[in-house]
Amino acid sequence: MYFPTEEERKDLTRGLLPKARKMVVADELRGWNWNMPPLEPIYDIKLALYEVAGYYCATARDLYMKRVQGIEVQPNIAMMFGGILHAALAKLIIEAKRAIYTTDVSLAANALEELRDPDYSALDRAATDLNQDELTELKNRIAVVWRHQLNAIITQVDTVLSKQPRLGVDSLVALAIPVSVEHNLDGSFLGLSSHLSTDAYRYYETTILDLKFGEPSDFHRLTTAGYALVMESLYEYPVNLGCIIYARFDNGRLLVDKDYHLIDDELRQWFIEARDEKMRMVSEEIDPGMPDECYEGCPYTGDCSR
Ligand code: SF4
Repeated sequence: MYFPTEEERKDLTRGLLPKARKMVVADELRGWNWNMPPLEPIYDIKLALYEVAGYYCATARDLYMKRVQGIEVQPNIAMMFGGILHAALAKLIIEAKRAIYTTDVSLAANALEELRDPDYSALDRAATDLNQDELTELKNRIAVVWRHQLNAIITQVDTVLSKQPRLGVDSLVALAIPVSVEHNLDGSFLGLSSHLSTDAYRYYETTILDLKFGEPSDFHRLTTAGYALVMESLYEYPVNLGCIIYARFDNGRLLVDKDYHLIDDELRQWFIEARDEKMRMVSEEIDPGMPDECYEGCPYTGDCSR
């Protein structure tokens, strides 16, 4: 899921990558200008990136309930499923890199075949919160995601090895698995948490990747915009490309759609406005009220309607 298919690669090379290179971004909207308006945080509080980027509740009353009213709730089932699938996928990427590093380059694909049995340890954290049917369904989904991603990694390794006869192990890992998962970032320059973690970012065209196991929404792009700004604030190089990977399941099949997008002025502005609006709500304890419609499964349903 984290690697582009051949078709996507062609699309990127002919479409978004040249656009990303040519794109002009207003300098004040680059993360390295975090110490001046409009990026400079106007309130002295820290928000998690998902708190800024999340608009599942259209008025963001979930954030008000949590940060102002101090109400903590259990994640709903979709959140639990998503968290566990993310964890399983991150585990696979790490284990695949470890398997390659600890074997001879020529035996890398064989070492990866040893990972065929999925690691279900991420399930432990939900063992008491899910019923048996839900656990079985989640286990099946881990197996599907694991197989899909492992096959992709093995193909990548075989492709790289077939092109580079004198490759070292570190180059093989960098070329075949060019992603860093759960990459930790300090967002404090931008008024964000100092312990942020991207789902993944891909080195070679510096793309922020965010994986969603749910329905697409426009606001999902706020997540990639936020991480791009944080990376720019830390490393002082431009990050212009994001991709939301939408994974869903249909009769045991994994279906994947990718939303590649430019992290342009408009998206950056939207992220900054969301951050400022939510910081203000928390700092000044402003109740944003309820939206016309609450989303299904919101964990605050009982608390909000009281
Ligand atoms: S119950 Fe409704 S208003 Fe409250 S947080 Fe959820 S979606 Fe928002």
